[in-house]
Amino acid sequence: MTLTYDDAVALDLADPLAAYRDEFLLGDDPVAYLDGNSLGRPPRRTLDRVESLLRHEWGQRLIRSWEDGWLELPEQVGDRLAAACLGAAAGQTVIAESTSVNLFKALHAACGLREGRDEIVASDADFPTDRYLVESVAAARGMTVRWLSPDVVEGVTPAELDDVLSERTAVVLLSHVDYRSGVLLDMAAVTEQVHGAGAVVIWDLCHSAGVIPLELDALGVDLAVGCTYKYLNAGPGAPAFVYVAERHLGAVSQPITGWWSSTDRFAMGPSYEADPSIRAMLSGTAYVPGIVAVDASVSLVAEAGIEAIREKAVALTEHCVALADAWLVPHGFTVASPRDPARRGGHVTVQGLRAREVADAMYAAKVIPDFRNPDMIRLGLSPLTTSYAELWTALDLTRQIVEGVSTKA
Ligand SMILES: *Cc1c(COP(=O)(O)O)cnc(C)c1O
Repeated sequence: MTLTYDDAVALDLADPLAAYRDEFLLGDDPVAYLDGNSLGRPPRRTLDRVESLLRHEWGQRLIRSWEDGWLELPEQVGDRLAAACLGAAAGQTVIAESTSVNLFKALHAACGLREGRDEIVASDADFPTDRYLVESVAAARGMTVRWLSPDVVEGVTPAELDDVLSERTAVVLLSHVDYRSGVLLDMAAVTEQVHGAGAVVIWDLCHSAGVIPLELDALGVDLAVGCTYKYLNAGPGAPAFVYVAERHLGAVSQPITGWWSSTDRFAMGPSYEADPSIRAMLSGTAYVPGIVAVDASVSLVAEAGIEAIREKAVALTEHCVALADAWLVPHGFTVASPRDPARRGGHVTVQGLRAREVADAMYAAKVIPDFRNPDMIRLGLSPLTTSYAELWTALDLTRQIVEGVSTKA
């Protein structure tokens, strides 16, 4: 595939999602932002909504705002996020805290659904917080971790999973899209395989929520967690989501048993009883500015449509791979992401010995990628904000950098 700057501009003109760029605050710095998969750009409506919340709901209504609607925000906004991009019916998702905290609760809750089984399966290639939490939850419950060691680009295979699953497996935790290579696992097949062993599955959706259509209900997923500041653009540290399938509600118990997860918050009774609804996954007072930010940002995904977003993600990553093949591979880089778009999320990773040096030079040229130790540069393409011209410019500047670096060598 050849792609000139004019071709990129033509693709932008034909892009049905192009107008969504205007929904975001965009300056001329950076020149190209390839980190929307790690911290999405700010939507204008989100800034307006948070400001209005602070000035009016907090500023004037003060404590009365809890009764005006704040109390129900965790599950209301959870339902809207679930409808926009999780393929989940209402009543199974709440917005609260961070992905890490929700994962801690979800791991305990999931293990509690399989008392008597004493192993947790997880991947040693997964994001650090996932690995660390699996270790601490296993230690606290006297369980053992069975580690999968998948190839980072191939992802976990059915055979590898088969090797570790047994009647001892309580829970399997996996990331749907790998944070480094972007490899996308087959959620239907893996979920079925885990259920075949009698275990429950927790999916980490951090790199798929807002960029890949999901069908949590239809696939019989047990639990899921994910963050809202990546493709969902809700802002740095915005509260995360946790999903528990309806059939498990009433049976899940999690260890941070704060008053917001109890049956009758305002009865303030002598002892704890978990709420039978998805509220059981809450703990303490909701961070309202964060939740309304999620609400406003998710409304953009709902309007654009997750199918259209996925279509553009595929087109953007295809172009990115083609440009990397043409311009970076001849200079010692390899594409460390699956080549089949059906097996790839919304980012593309290139790998090379001089990656650190190249990434630093990209930053200096105001092209912002993500560097991942020891030698990976992650190019995140966020369909609502990344234009084809922006991608072209980023790769063209990177080409000039790698040509300079390889001449030096
Ligand atoms: C981004 C990410 C996280 C982040 O967790 P936080 O609690 O928000 O810091 C966790 N897991 C995966 C797979 C991620 O990609």
